[in-house]
Amino acid sequence: MAIHRISADFIHPGNGPMLPQGVLVVDENGVILAIENQRLGNEIIYKGVLCPGFINVHCHTELSYAKGLIAPQKGINAFISDLENLKKTIKEEEKIKAIEAALIQMESEGIVAVGDIMNTTMSLPVKAKSKIKFYNFIEVYGSQNASADLVFSKAKVLLSQTPLPCAITPHAPYSVSEPLFQHICSQSKDSILSIHHAESEAEIKFFEKGEGPFAIRFENWQLPLPQHIPSLDRPLTWIMKQTSEQQNLLLIHNTFINKNDLKWVNQRKLFLGLCPKANLYIENKLPPMDLLNEFRSVICLGTDSLASNDRLSILEEMLTLKQAFNLNWQDLIQFATYNGAKALGFENELGTFEIGKNPGINLISFKEDQPRITVIDTNFYSKN
Ligand SMILES: [Zn+2]
Repeated sequence: MAIHRISADFIHPGNGPMLPQGVLVVDENGVILAIENQRLGNEIIYKGVLCPGFINVHCHTELSYAKGLIAPQKGINAFISDLENLKKTIKEEEKIKAIEAALIQMESEGIVAVGDIMNTTMSLPVKAKSKIKFYNFIEVYGSQNASADLVFSKAKVLLSQTPLPCAITPHAPYSVSEPLFQHICSQSKDSILSIHHAESEAEIKFFEKGEGPFAIRFENWQLPLPQHIPSLDRPLTWIMKQTSEQQNLLLIHNTFINKNDLKWVNQRKLFLGLCPKANLYIENKLPPMDLLNEFRSVICLGTDSLASNDRLSILEEMLTLKQAFNLNWQDLIQFATYNGAKALGFENELGTFEIGKNPGINLISFKEDQPRITVIDTNFYSKN
């Protein structure tokens, strides 16, 4: 078995400080054999930072067909309507082609694992052929108490066709009734719930007071408001009441999270998944990084789907946060690697350079100050 010594200006191990001129010793399959502080002179040397493969905690690969088809910055309510209309007009074979292209793009962007939201099983044959590891979230909606049993039993059928790891997950606090949420919480203790949280002010107002554009939408559908709305609670307080202390939670977006919500972070098993480019696309707003600064150990990154992003690139998500908030690479790379792996329960295999792991190797290099990503293929050295 061929052994390679790889070095760069810095090695970021995923979960610790960067090693200047560190050395990664790997076998031809990319398994980490050692991490050393000193070069011996027989290394392959890169300019830039070597780090583990990226974890994209939130995507909807099923929606890849919608790339460039939904006008940006019209708000979440218009976004949901536009997407619902679009869904009906595109043929399944086109949707599948778009999923294939999306997975190829994510691999070339150094993404090794994805938390993928599914509403159908359409993506499964494509994902089975990909090198990317998936946590499959079967997402459910159902705002009316009376529909809870039916919605959950349909989701269980999808779940039975889906490879592990997978879980049924609620779309959002405003779109899932209490009985449906309770069904979802009855799954195995290890399962993760990935919930859209505080993506817009409109949804929070609707959740707390039963008012605003979301309430008008229910009127148009001639549906009563969900029985738990107006809740008079913050969405996260309600989620905390619905779930046990053992429940693993991955909250997605958090664009309008506040100080009061954040008190739960230290009390519960929760991760905050940020999708900054999708937030700019839909609401033209970014999460409050000043408030989130002390919670950096639970921040991870997602691209959301191509319906609200032009590219499925974790590097671009990092850059968006870096430019807006002047964050450093040390933190950003940890968000993109170790924290994401923990959020999806993949930390034993991915997210860090540790002996015995095969986490993928990315090189972030800088050309005229513009960072770009190269996926390091250790097999390539063996063949050439
Ligand atoms: Zn989403």
